Amino acid sequence: MSCKIGILGLGTVGTGVAKILLDPEGRHPVLREIEIKSVGVRSLSTKRDVDLPASYYTNNLESIVNDPDIEIIVELIGGLEPARSLILQAIANGKHVVTANKAVLARYGAEIFTAAKANGVYVMLEASVGGGIPIIQALKQALGANRIAAVTGIINGTTNYILSRMHQEGGAFEDILANAQALGYAEADPTADVDGYDAADKIAILASLAFGDRIKLDEIYREGIRNVTSIDIHWATELGFAIKLLGIARHAVVDGESGLDIRVHPTLIPITHPLASINGVTNAVTVAGDPIGEVVFSGPGAGSGATASAVVADIINVVAALKSGTGKINQLMGCSHQHYAKVHSVDSNKTQFYVRLIARDRPGVIGEIGMRFGKHLVNLESIIQKNSHGEFAEVVVVTKQVVERNFQTAIADIKNLDAIESIATVLRIL
Ligand code: NAP
Repeated sequence: MSCKIGILGLGTVGTGVAKILLDPEGRHPVLREIEIKSVGVRSLSTKRDVDLPASYYTNNLESIVNDPDIEIIVELIGGLEPARSLILQAIANGKHVVTANKAVLARYGAEIFTAAKANGVYVMLEASVGGGIPIIQALKQALGANRIAAVTGIINGTTNYILSRMHQEGGAFEDILANAQALGYAEADPTADVDGYDAADKIAILASLAFGDRIKLDEIYREGIRNVTSIDIHWATELGFAIKLLGIARHAVVDGESGLDIRVHPTLIPITHPLASINGVTNAVTVAGDPIGEVVFSGPGAGSGATASAVVADIINVVAALKSGTGKINQLMGCSHQHYAKVHSVDSNKTQFYVRLIARDRPGVIGEIGMRFGKHLVNLESIIQKNSHGEFAEVVVVTKQVVERNFQTAIADIKNLDAIESIATVLRIL
């Protein structure tokens, strides 16, 4: 007997999912046992790029999650509400859920997974991070033998596209963002992408799976790419780095206390690092674990087909698990975290920094800057005077790994020096 599913949302991803399900030839045989029963959309008059009978469509999404014939709800409407309520209603009705909605999962994951556990259903989320890259299943299953030390990723295609073009063309952030919006690579409101909110949602999900605890979104340090200038791209390149927006989650011990260091910020990456050569809208995630060492996953982080590939893989997994007929939840597919992780505050973690200062071009300035860093226990790797413009010169400093609090105190001190015009940029180094 086939397994009936209801799809909420037939936009970019929903259309890709329906197309795969309607054309199973040459794909996994389980696909032949999946039947779309209903599709929920907002507008019934919109012409759709998929061949489904008109009778399948409804704009009453609750009727789908309450339909006793449907076993799996595929939530692809996006946003927080009504997505959250529909997911919870589906779970309450004993239905399994497949979703690509990182925003809902990062904010309401605790509520959703608690309900799923209580009702003995699956909530599958492969498409919520990294589009078509199978990173969720890897963390849940294939890397299960490892003690994970760090998950580091380029997990937002829009910002990677903008930063890649800044590297290639030397253009300014605002100009490239405007052009990316015109070309459809960036949203009209780019806030979620360029200010790092989308990447924070995704690193929260990855951290929770990698380290086995729930994560509070507001404990993640988040900084977007608006302050990255073409000058910094230039100096970073000269110093042997690429600048990428990274989501980073790593195990860290601070003052003897074990916890996590989780952050999203533009980051200088050594040009030899595998993430440095990931350009355009491509996503990539590295996972470091014991005993495996480091593995790298990369691929299309968005788009109809790529994201649908991940969604349909989840549907296949649920259908296959249901067919096994034990009636029990497969532990490898479930999500049973109950405790919140200890997330260290960003200022207590150790980081390496790149700083660009505008200083008066006069003797002794470099020494003064170096002394102030030293006074606050910030060891330097290099300090170089770059271009002079009249009475001012650019000074580029690279620190060693230092406690962020000490670094910020040093910067506040240096800012007040008579010789310093401004602290132009502060960026972290991987
Ligand atoms: P989309 O193209 O905007 O499609 C959304 C669909 O949901 C549309 O069919 C829309 O109906 C329907 N919808 C939205 N709100 C509704 C409501 N209140 N009631 C009924 N129907 C509603 O979105 P998408 O790009 O496919 O994204 C879907 C999800 O996948 C999101 O969570 C997104 O974050 C995630 N995701 C997307 C991508 C990607 O490449 N696009 C990649 C990874 C993850 P109408 O068609 O009638 O307007």
